[in-house]
Amino acid sequence: MPQLRTDYMSRSVTLVPSERSARAAGEVEDCKFCAGRENETPPAELVLLDKFGGIVKTSDTEEERNSDWVARVFKSPRPLVYDDPGANFSDEPLVGEPAQGSHYVVVTSPSHEEQFHTANVNQLANGLIAMQEEVKTLYQGRGISYVAAYANMTAGKGSASHPQINLVSLGRIPPIVQAELTATDSMYDELGICPVCRVVNVESGGPRQIISTDSYVAFVPWAPRRNLEFWIVPKKHQRSFLKLTQNQIKELAMIMRCTLGGFVKENGPEYGVAFHMAPERMQQSQYHWHVEVHPQNSTSDSLEDGFGVYVLPKVPEEAAEKLGKWARREMADMFGVK
Ligand SMILES: [Zn+2]
Ligand SMILES: [Zn+2]
Ligand SMILES: [Zn+2]
Repeated sequence: MPQLRTDYMSRSVTLVPSERSARAAGEVEDCKFCAGRENETPPAELVLLDKFGGIVKTSDTEEERNSDWVARVFKSPRPLVYDDPGANFSDEPLVGEPAQGSHYVVVTSPSHEEQFHTANVNQLANGLIAMQEEVKTLYQGRGISYVAAYANMTAGKGSASHPQINLVSLGRIPPIVQAELTATDSMYDELGICPVCRVVNVESGGPRQIISTDSYVAFVPWAPRRNLEFWIVPKKHQRSFLKLTQNQIKELAMIMRCTLGGFVKENGPEYGVAFHMAPERMQQSQYHWHVEVHPQNSTSDSLEDGFGVYVLPKVPEEAAEKLGKWARREMADMFGVK
């Protein structure tokens, strides 16, 4: 049964187990997220159509799927969390809770080749609008504390490489967002300023700035965890991503497109994007949303890099069994036991 386990001491969080989406090199499965294959995914609960000179929202039914969409959102065929994972709570020192929630995929373009770093800006904005809409819906779910929105971008032909954003709703706030939230609210209470606003003041026009638009600044953080990591931050204090207008979303798409497009040309097409949005149910919090981009390799994952939620392919008990067998065999070899 899928469970969220908390480490004995560091309190890091691990999702156990789940079918991790294949990101390994040599992935052979062909893509079911491309236009024309709508019948091979679950019905889309949100479909954006570009019609009558604007964006129209609709949805699929089990029998009838929309074609000619610009973005569509459906339940992940390989969910990390489940509506009904069973009541597997456990207590200190083996702290665990059921991995309850829902996992949706926002397909941000009908074209496999239209990745964030190559996308038409209007199209990328359509994908972000679909994400915003679905995050709103997910926060209405029972027992939901946080919706983690992230993308793992990698070259390939399979569904995992199709341009998409994953939305995973969780019964708890992920560790990295929780740490930022605690820091924000304690500084806000004490000094009346949000730490992200203070960072914008320091980094704008400084030696780590990458690029700046009217409303956003992109910069390399002072203490990145990886080389070439960067953040995109709204310059003005802004608590909710869900309140962004279509124009503000379009400007975000523009700065994402430039920074990622440049990054990929020089560094290759592997990166993760973590949308650090506020926990919408904590109305009193001053959390200032932002986007973090992490360079990746084929095994890294944005839920891990961006949110601190580790995703395991197998339960630790199974790993222990294997490691035990290997260690005993090694010991027998070392001492010459036949
Ligand atoms: Zn595709
Ligand atoms: Zn702020
Ligand atoms: Zn952050």
